[in-house]
Amino acid sequence: MGKLLSWIAIIALVYAGMRLFVVLKRKSRLAGARRAAARPASPPPGGAPERILPCDHCGVHMPASDMVIADGRHFCSPEHRDAFRR
Ligand SMILES: [Zn+2]
Repeated sequence: MGKLLSWIAIIALVYAGMRLFVVLKRKSRLAGARRAAARPASPPPGGAPERILPCDHCGVHMPASDMVIADGRHFCSPEHRDAFRR
């Protein structure tokens, strides 16, 4: 009788261990899928990072796409473009 009880205990332990293993595996797979889904948002679209350039009048740095370009020079504002020309 004692032998039967110890066998049941062993089988129950093995079963519990397997259940735990499956649950942990599923949990880590879900976490990995969630991380993979969140990843595409982090790098900026378009690949290359935005160029930061200094204003040719005052030297302030800003993204090239926000700058005023005149005669191949970059300015932070139309006022500084005009001030540079004078
Ligand atoms: Zn400027």
